[in-house]
Amino acid sequence: MRLVIISLDSVFAADSDYLLSLPNLGRLAAEGVFCGSVQTIYPSLTYPIHASLITGCYPDKHGIAHNEPFQPDTLINMRRWYWEESHIKTETIFSQAHKAGRECAAILWPTTGFSKNIRYNFPEVLALPGENQALKVINYGSKGWILRTELRYGRRRKGISQPYLDDYATLLAEKLILKHPVKIQPGLKDEKGQPKEQVVDTRSRKKRHMPDVLALHLVDCDAMRHRYGTFSKEAKEALDRLDIRVGKIMAALSERGLLKDTIVAVVTDHGQADIIGSLPLDAWLAANRVPARAQTLGFGAYLHLNHADYQPVLKALTDNMADLRISHVYTREELRLMHAPEDILLAVEPEKGFVIVDDENQIKTGATHGFGPGHPGSKTLLWLYGPQFLGGFRLPMCDLTDIAPTLAYASGLDLPQAQGRVLEEAFIWNHHSKGEGAS
Ligand SMILES: [Zn+2]
Repeated sequence: MRLVIISLDSVFAADSDYLLSLPNLGRLAAEGVFCGSVQTIYPSLTYPIHASLITGCYPDKHGIAHNEPFQPDTLINMRRWYWEESHIKTETIFSQAHKAGRECAAILWPTTGFSKNIRYNFPEVLALPGENQALKVINYGSKGWILRTELRYGRRRKGISQPYLDDYATLLAEKLILKHPVKIQPGLKDEKGQPKEQVVDTRSRKKRHMPDVLALHLVDCDAMRHRYGTFSKEAKEALDRLDIRVGKIMAALSERGLLKDTIVAVVTDHGQADIIGSLPLDAWLAANRVPARAQTLGFGAYLHLNHADYQPVLKALTDNMADLRISHVYTREELRLMHAPEDILLAVEPEKGFVIVDDENQIKTGATHGFGPGHPGSKTLLWLYGPQFLGGFRLPMCDLTDIAPTLAYASGLDLPQAQGRVLEEAFIWNHHSKGEGAS
């Protein structure tokens, strides 16, 4: 069974009614499984969440604690992110598929750089000052394939600006699907009058098949929300464009007759919320000689400290919550229950609309994420479509870590380290067996 995963960045529960009114995502929900309340992980940042989406694990196990490693003394625009596949400490859907002899493709999927498992890899990496963006993508990705596609279609892209980048990413995915040979010969009938399938030797024409696993990360809505606000006109237009892109992928699969043995999962990572003010927590810690460093998560922040300083730092924070506009201090016990990375002993959640900034001169506007699990933006969305899944089924809720084990199970892969569960209630066989038991 083939697997196509499309991630819509910064799309969340508050968007569900609108998305279900759109032609493609509406149809996918009507013909498949839809969940409008998927609890995302902590922290609600793109890279940790995308690692969870392909591992079924939380950051305490998969190792992606943040978008970027803690680099407190490096300028913000000079910081490296978790760009490389080797940063993930557990098996992934890509590694398990590769091990099973299946071909993988990833387009703008985070933390895939220098992948040993992905045959067609257009990784999400960002050039630092002095680096060339195109060369960096080629260096971290599948060189030959990227060069060929750049030569053919590269002029349709305008650097990494949206909505062109997502249109380009979608085009790459469509082209990979359309590599698949046409199986049904139009007009050809067998002796019984049924449509006749063209015989294709899969061994000799292996290169002419769509990848068995195809993951696509679309970032249009994330960019619009950060810039113009959570419920801006621009964000709504991005939702319209995302629906069209999902439609293009479905149309390509349909054109090649692939929908009968392909699972399509549309996933989202987190929502956003509008910013009303900034809190330079790290500068406050330094000014008050509190032995800890803050690392922003967007809204909230991690505190980096030594074990021996736990009580004094906790006291300094809890004594000054009103002044610091902090609404909650996560203790180490709470953080372990939330599966936050083991080395994070304290974290804070600010009052509504306030973001913690690493640099006190930083002015943040628009919207962002990085809030805790109680925030409305932590409820994300899931569509599951394929021959094994129920049609028109609404799953009331699930955890984001349930998605990877469910997709692995449906496509015949193993993810033994996953911390989530297989969403058995979404499968046709489960429904049938229950129905038979009741009658
Ligand atoms: Zn994101």
